Amino acid sequence: MILYNLENKAVLKERIKNDPTPRTTISFYRYTPIDNPQDFRDKLYIDWSKFGVLGRIYLALEGINAQFSIPNKKLSDFKTYLDNNESLKDMPLKIAVEDNGKSFYKLDIKIKHKIVADGLDDKAFDTTNVGNHLTAKEWNQYMAEKDTIVVDMRNYYESEIGHFKGAITPDVDTFKEELQVVKEELKNQKNTKVLLYCTGGVRCEKASAFLKSEGFTDVNQLYGGIIDYARQCQAENLENKFLGKNFVFDERLSEKISNDIIAKCHQCDKPCDTHTNCANNHCHLLFIQCTDCQKKYDGCCTPHCQNVIKLSKDQQKEIYRGEKYSYNKQIYRSRLRPKLKDICQNI
Ligand SMILES: [Zn+2]
Ligand SMILES: [Zn+2]
Repeated sequence: MILYNLENKAVLKERIKNDPTPRTTISFYRYTPIDNPQDFRDKLYIDWSKFGVLGRIYLALEGINAQFSIPNKKLSDFKTYLDNNESLKDMPLKIAVEDNGKSFYKLDIKIKHKIVADGLDDKAFDTTNVGNHLTAKEWNQYMAEKDTIVVDMRNYYESEIGHFKGAITPDVDTFKEELQVVKEELKNQKNTKVLLYCTGGVRCEKASAFLKSEGFTDVNQLYGGIIDYARQCQAENLENKFLGKNFVFDERLSEKISNDIIAKCHQCDKPCDTHTNCANNHCHLLFIQCTDCQKKYDGCCTPHCQNVIKLSKDQQKEIYRGEKYSYNKQIYRSRLRPKLKDICQNI
C-alpha cells in the first residue's frame, strides 16, 4: 500500500502540466479534535489518492487545514465522501477564484503540531471564543463605518501584492510574529471595532480568539477569507474593496482579485505584482520581479545568484558547502527583499 509520494518532483510537474483533465482548486479548514492523526492521515492518503486529489494537507490533534485540487468529475463524489466522515461533514469549501487546475502536482499530507503555526499556548486562553464571523456584505458595511481598524493577518509578502483599502499590513514574515505585533500595535485601542482578515479564514479563527483573550472587546473576522469574499462579491454583485492579488500557497502563487497593481518590482521599482522564486535553488528567495528584470538577471534575485547558476553543479555545491537550508535562514534572507534594488544596482 502506498502511503507517501515517492516520485520525482520534475516528473510530477511535467505530468500535471500536460494533463488535460479539468481540475478545481479548493481549500478548507476545521478546528476539530482528531484523536489519532497518524491513522487519520494514512486513511486520508489512501482515500484521497483514489479521488485523484493533489495538494497540501496539514493534520494535528486540533484539526485539519487542506488546500488541494481535484478532477471536476470527482468533486460531487468527494463531497459525499466528506459528508460521510464524522469530522469532515458539512465542510464549507472555498473554491479558487482564478484557477488553471495546475495548483498542485502531488498529494502531501503532513502531521503537524498545529494546523497553523501560531506560537500560542492554546491552554492559556479560550480558543473557541472566536470573533464575529462576517459575510462579504457585512464586511463592506463594517469597513464603511467610522473608527474601525482593518487588520491584515497575513505576512508582508502576501499583503504587499494585495490588501483591503486602508488595512494595517504588518511587516512580518510569520503568523507567530504577526499576532504579537498586532497585539502591541493596537494595545491602546482595545474598545475599537477590529476587522481581521486572511487568505481563507483559518488564521483569523485563532487570531480573533487570542485578541479577545487580550482584552479586545469588538473583534470581527471575514469568514472564508479573501477567497470567499471575492466569490461572494461576484455572486451578489457587491463592491470589491480588495485591491490587487490574493497570494496563495500553491504553484499559482496568486489569484487576481482586482486589476490594481499595488506592488513594485524589487529590482527596478516598476509597477509589478508577480512573485517568483530566485532561479538559484540554493537561494530560492521569494521576491517580486518584472519581465525585464527576469531577462536581465536570468530569473535571479541578485547578480551574485545569476553568477552562481552559470557554474557547474559541483562548483555550486562547493560555494554552499556546510550551508544547510533552514527556516530561520529563509526569514533572514527575506529581509533582503527591500534591499534588492540597491544590491542589484551597486554591483
Ligand atoms: Zn524590474
Ligand atoms: Zn537569489
